[in-house]
Amino acid sequence: MNMISNHLPTEELQALDAAHHMHPFTAGADLARKGARVITRAKGVTLTDSNGVDILDGMAGLWCVNIGYGRDSIAEVAARQLKELPYYNTFFQTTHVPAIALAQKLAEMAPGDLNHVFYASGGSDANDTNVRLVRHYWAAKGKPEKKVIISRRNAYHGSTMAGASLGGMQPMHAQGGLPIADIVHIGQPNWWAEGGDMSPEEFGLARARELEAKIAELGEDKVAAFIAEPIQGAGGVIIPPSTYWPEIQRICDAHEILLIADEVICGFGRTGNMFGSQTYDIRPDIMTIAKGLSSGYAPIGGSLVSDEVANTVAEAGDFNHGYTYSGHPVSCAVALENLRIIEDEKLVENVSTHTGPYLAEKWAQLADHPLVGEAKIVGFMGSLAMTPDKASRAAFAAGAGTAGLICRDHCFANQLVMRHVGDRMIIAPPLILQKSDVDTLIERAVKSLDQTHAKLKAEGLMVAA
Ligand SMILES: *Cc1c(COP(=O)(O)O)cnc(C)c1O
Repeated sequence: MNMISNHLPTEELQALDAAHHMHPFTAGADLARKGARVITRAKGVTLTDSNGVDILDGMAGLWCVNIGYGRDSIAEVAARQLKELPYYNTFFQTTHVPAIALAQKLAEMAPGDLNHVFYASGGSDANDTNVRLVRHYWAAKGKPEKKVIISRRNAYHGSTMAGASLGGMQPMHAQGGLPIADIVHIGQPNWWAEGGDMSPEEFGLARARELEAKIAELGEDKVAAFIAEPIQGAGGVIIPPSTYWPEIQRICDAHEILLIADEVICGFGRTGNMFGSQTYDIRPDIMTIAKGLSSGYAPIGGSLVSDEVANTVAEAGDFNHGYTYSGHPVSCAVALENLRIIEDEKLVENVSTHTGPYLAEKWAQLADHPLVGEAKIVGFMGSLAMTPDKASRAAFAAGAGTAGLICRDHCFANQLVMRHVGDRMIIAPPLILQKSDVDTLIERAVKSLDQTHAKLKAEGLMVAA
C-alpha cells in the first residue's frame, strides 16, 4: 500500500505540508512559518495530534462529525460498497441501490412534503443546485423574471461562486468579484451586535421585516427565493430572537417566495430535533443538507425538495444540471449507516433531553465570567460573546478577532477545540457528547477564558471601541 506514514516526525510532515498543500481559508505563508497542527487519529469525541496530545473536539470537525469518530460499522459498510459497486453515475437514465435507498430514507425523515432529493458532493454545490433549481422552477411556471434570491449578511452557504454569493461574508465577496448577479442581502438577526436599544423580540421582527421591504423594493414578480440557516453557524452561532422565524415564514407565504432552509449544520440532530426547521417551526420548500448527513465520513450533500417544486421541474423537460458524484454509491451507503446510528442510538434525544439540558445549564453559567457578555445555546450549538463592557455590549477597541484569536489559542493549548468568529467563541460538539465530556469541556473553556482575560488585561486590551 502506498501511504504517507502517521509516524514521520511532526516537523517533517509540517514541512511537506507547507511545501505542497494549499489550505482553505488560510494565509498560506503565515501557516508555513508556524507549521500546521497534524491530526493523526480520533475516537469518540477526542482527537489525537502527531505529538500524542488528546484534544476534545468541541466543533465535531467542521460541524459535521455528529456520530463521533472511529465507527467500525461505517468503515465496514464503505468497504462492502467499494467492493460491490464503487462508482456509477445517475445520469443517462440509470440509478443504483444506495442512491435509491438513501433518497427513500431522507424522504421519510424530512418534514412536510420534502419527498425528493437532488444529490451533491457537499453543501456548497447543493446550494448551487438550489439557485439553478428555483430559477428553473419559476421559469417552468411561466415566471422567468422571478430569479432574485435574497439572503443575509454574515450568512454562510458555502464557497463555490454561487455558495459564496448567497453567503454574506464580506471578505469572501471581496475576492473574485462576488456576489454573482441577482443575489441580494438583508440584515442578520444578531441582536447582541446590532440590536441597539431594541428588545431582542422587537429586533427579531425588525430584521424579518427587512425581507418584506426588500421584496417590495425589487417587486414580488422578481424574487425567486429567500435562503437562510435556521441558526447561522459560521457567522458565529447567531441564535435568532423568538419573533424572527414566524415573521419570515409569514412573509414568504404572503409573497409567493420559495423558502430555502440551509440545514447543512442544523440538520441531523444538532438543534435537538432532526432538523432546525422543526426547532423553529419553519416550512421550507427546499432544504440544503450535507455535513451531518454522513457525519463527515464521506463527502455528500443534497437538496431536499418539495412535491410542488420537484414535480413542476420534472414536467419541464431536462434539468440541465448535475455532478459526476451526484448520489455517489459509497457516500450514500455511508450516509445510510450514519442515519441508522443517529436513530438507533437516539442521538437527537441525547441533544434534546439527556446531555443537552446539562450542557445548556453549564453553558449559561459562563455568562457570569467577566469576559463574557452573552452565553447562548440551542441543542449542541453554542456561542459566547466576549466583550470589554457587558452593559453596553461593546466591541473591543483593538479590533474584531483580537480576543477571539487569543482565546482560541488558549483553548488549543488546553486541549479543547473551540472556534472563534471575531470575538465570539463557538461550540458544536459531536452529538454523542456525554455529561462527563461536558464537565471537561466547561472546565477547559473556563480555564481558557481566564487566561484570555488575564492576557487582555495585562496588555491593556480590555477597552471598549
Ligand atoms: C459548511 C456549510 C456549507 C457548505 O458546505 P460544504 O460541504 O463545505 O460545501 C453550506 N451551508 C452551511 C450552512 C454550512 O455550514
